[in-house]
Amino acid sequence: MSDQPNVYAGVPLDRAALRRKNEDWLTQAWLSPDARVLPVWQTRSFVTGPADAARAVLVPPGAGLEGVPIFLGLLDEDPIFAVDLSIAESPETLPGLEGLGRFEDLRAVGPLMPEKEGALCAYARGMAWWNARHRFCGVCGAPAASAEAGHVRICTDPACATHHFPRTDPAVIMLVHDGDRVVLGRQSRFPPGMHSVLAGFVEPGESLEETVAREVMEEVGLTVTDVRYQSSQPWPFPSSLMLGFTARATSFDIETGQDELESAQWYSRDFLRDHSPGEEFRLPRRDSIAHRLLAEWIAAG
Ligand SMILES: [Zn+2]
Repeated sequence: MSDQPNVYAGVPLDRAALRRKNEDWLTQAWLSPDARVLPVWQTRSFVTGPADAARAVLVPPGAGLEGVPIFLGLLDEDPIFAVDLSIAESPETLPGLEGLGRFEDLRAVGPLMPEKEGALCAYARGMAWWNARHRFCGVCGAPAASAEAGHVRICTDPACATHHFPRTDPAVIMLVHDGDRVVLGRQSRFPPGMHSVLAGFVEPGESLEETVAREVMEEVGLTVTDVRYQSSQPWPFPSSLMLGFTARATSFDIETGQDELESAQWYSRDFLRDHSPGEEFRLPRRDSIAHRLLAEWIAAG
């Protein structure tokens, strides 16, 4: 198995987590001439260049970048922050940003960006999204204030004072096989022809192995054994971590459940190795963990 990180993993920063509690250091870091900001606007990332080769744009802190700085870490020794500019009506004309780039959905441009820049944008997007969705305390409803450079939100009601931390929601994605064949399915929202492995969210009180078995049963009616972890992919769209598995089927008659897949069937390793991608059939995008699970399984045969 390749050691290559999946797309959006490999953030090129020292997260320097101990610095998050040091207000004096953070103030100095924000004022440093070496500081850089990764702007985020309504979950979009600030980029330049063509859509199929976009580059992340980092700018110096300054006028126009009003917002609570989120300290992301150190790039070499330079402090890197994210700032959420979502309240701006036309963020691309703000002082400090004008003429330097545009805001794009990372899901559209991320896969074709330099990998480290895509990972940086994904981290910034995930942090901005979490802060924006946790402005109020989930315990008592009072406003929750940003603390520790954007990595904690603390309830402002002193009687409550609950600390809220950024969330990552685990999801499993699994290649179900019988040795020579794999199960691939289609969801109605997939692009034409695309077929993929199965996936689903972990529920409270479940182990990952149990989630894999439950989701496979719900989606295609098969029982599985030999559930093996392969690799993981940060997926902050908005807040997931994809955990990739293989699982061996112990029953073979596919029955797609309601509300899940529009179709699913077995495909042989030879078919997957030899097929020509097109409108009728193709595999998931190369940047996805689904593609990697399939590529590694095909190569292992
Ligand atoms: Zn509270």
